[in-house]
Amino acid sequence: MILERRPAPRLLSLVIPCFNEEAVLPILRDRLSSFVKSFSIPVEIIFVDDGSRDNTLLFLMRWASENSAVKIIGLARNFGHQNAATAGLDAAKGDAVVLMDADLQDPLEVIQQMTEKYCEGYDVIYGQRISREGESWFKRITAWLFYRLMKVLVHSDLPLDAGDFRLISRRSLDALCSMHEVHRFLRGMITWVGFAQVPLKYRRDVRAAGSTKYTVWKMCRFAWNAIVSFSPLPLRISLVIGIIVACGGAIYGIYAVLRSLIYHDTVLGWTTQIVLTSVLGGTILVSNGLLGEYVGRIFEEIKGRPLYIVATRVNFS
Ligand code: UDP
Ligand code: MG
Repeated sequence: MILERRPAPRLLSLVIPCFNEEAVLPILRDRLSSFVKSFSIPVEIIFVDDGSRDNTLLFLMRWASENSAVKIIGLARNFGHQNAATAGLDAAKGDAVVLMDADLQDPLEVIQQMTEKYCEGYDVIYGQRISREGESWFKRITAWLFYRLMKVLVHSDLPLDAGDFRLISRRSLDALCSMHEVHRFLRGMITWVGFAQVPLKYRRDVRAAGSTKYTVWKMCRFAWNAIVSFSPLPLRISLVIGIIVACGGAIYGIYAVLRSLIYHDTVLGWTTQIVLTSVLGGTILVSNGLLGEYVGRIFEEIKGRPLYIVATRVNFS
């Protein structure tokens, strides 16, 4: 892909999903205010309140009443981080959008570097964590495993150790917004879109205040969602197991028939039992697997993704 230099975005949108973040919001407000002042590009800040049960929305409302660059989308209940992020991305008006967490784990200074890469012509600049400060060993191990497993299962291009913290250009964002699937695994979807993507290494800080909103249950759901909504592999597994079992069953069935014919040493009815069980078991598993293939295709169709995304057109008027 040819990189073409482009001017700095006329407007940069920051999209920040928040769920019960009242503890961190005052700190975020201070840090964001000085960031926006020192930043050379106009910024809009879109907060998505993901059905918080604390004073998050109240705090945001007060802030927005004093500053028109602060925009709020309040969701009717907790829809989860990926959906909240989608709501914010859909509403973003900027030429470039940065998706980030409310807890300041992703340092604001990195956004400057991301914007420079954007000007070099990159469309997606994703933060890649070289270290995770102050996170539990459980979180580190599960995250390490998750990224490696996803790379094998879902998308070989899926970058390792990159979360949702990233800058996305307008054309990538438009492509992303044209994908209406219900179960969303945003980083996989952004990888799928393509265009020039580049990592930006950074150190992940400790959460500035409050505690993680990704409970173990939410993490499991997220990982399961990512695998199942992105990869037909689990469906294929049943077909492969079905074929192996059917072949094994057929071989064993033949053996049972031959044994009863040659040695006449089997209990009456044993051969029939073995042959029937192997053949039927195998057939059921294979047809389950085949059904899985079709269900997989229906699933792909129903996602209604664009078939391709065009990056360049030459001499088309
Ligand atoms: N979040 C959200 N909805 C949820 C869970 C989390 O909008 O159901 C937000 C949360 O407020 C934060 C971001 O998603 O801005 C990432 O969550 P968190 O920092 O708790 O996750 P961790 O960094 O521990 O993985
Ligand atoms: Mg966090």
